[in-house]
Amino acid sequence: MKHENNDQTTWRCDKCQQELELTKVKVKYMEGNFEVDLPKCPSCHQVFIDEALALGKMKEVEEGLEDK
Ligand SMILES: [Zn+2]
Repeated sequence: MKHENNDQTTWRCDKCQQELELTKVKVKYMEGNFEVDLPKCPSCHQVFIDEALALGKMKEVEEGLEDK
């Protein structure tokens, strides 16, 4: 079975039509602080937090903790 990673979606700011850049943002989750990469517009500096994306990241964090 071939596993392809097609998660690399290009995000654009609705306002500026600029490609969003991933920026490390600190988030608080449960009892810890984590850094997650969130898409940010280089023009208007709006950070886009897609709920599904945020939840996905949280899941990654959880899984990462369980592994270690
Ligand atoms: Zn923008």
